[in-house]
Amino acid sequence: MPTFKEQFWDPVAGFGVTFRTMFRKVVTEQYPFEKMPTAPRFHGRHQLNRWPDGLEKCIGCELCAWACPADAIYVEGASNTEDERFSPGERYGRVYQINYLRCILCGLCIEACPTRALTMTNEYELADNNRADLIYEKSDLLAPLLPGMEQPPHPMLLGDDAEDYYRGTFSAPPPTAAGGAGAKEATS
Ligand code: SF4
Ligand code: SF4
Repeated sequence: MPTFKEQFWDPVAGFGVTFRTMFRKVVTEQYPFEKMPTAPRFHGRHQLNRWPDGLEKCIGCELCAWACPADAIYVEGASNTEDERFSPGERYGRVYQINYLRCILCGLCIEACPTRALTMTNEYELADNNRADLIYEKSDLLAPLLPGMEQPPHPMLLGDDAEDYYRGTFSAPPPTAAGGAGAKEATS
């Protein structure tokens, strides 16, 4: 047989919690109607960065793919030629894919990248209704061309050789630049 406390006091105490909560600040987020900003260093979608003249920073070395614990990255490198140059130096990433069905956004790949070609943005809306669209291609990951950048392939515009790029010993913007691209890191 229930005691007096169980019959009368316990229900009142239970509703007391409900009553008190009615006057507290609501913490429910109205996503996707209201989007909250992430922390500045939140690990979101990746980005393949460019040099200030538009050449790609990726050299197709595959270190990011080897560092990935989820086997989410696929890279195929290829050789630049003087007629068709996508990055300073010998090699560039001809094929670059990230499979967001596998990626756990841990950031190990960006730590492994020797050229800071690969960084992560704050973009977190990576859901879709089919597998194919969650394999991002190089064209999906490349940073946009900022003012003063040229779409590769094109010759090195910031220096005579790749060492000028990697040592940062360039100061003048590329000859065709309209907005002083030489002064801005292509990592937006
Ligand atoms: S963030 Fe982590 S899981 Fe995702 S591609 Fe990079 S290393 Fe792999
Ligand atoms: S993103 Fe970086 S680590 Fe990955 S292939 Fe390109 S240069 Fe190498």
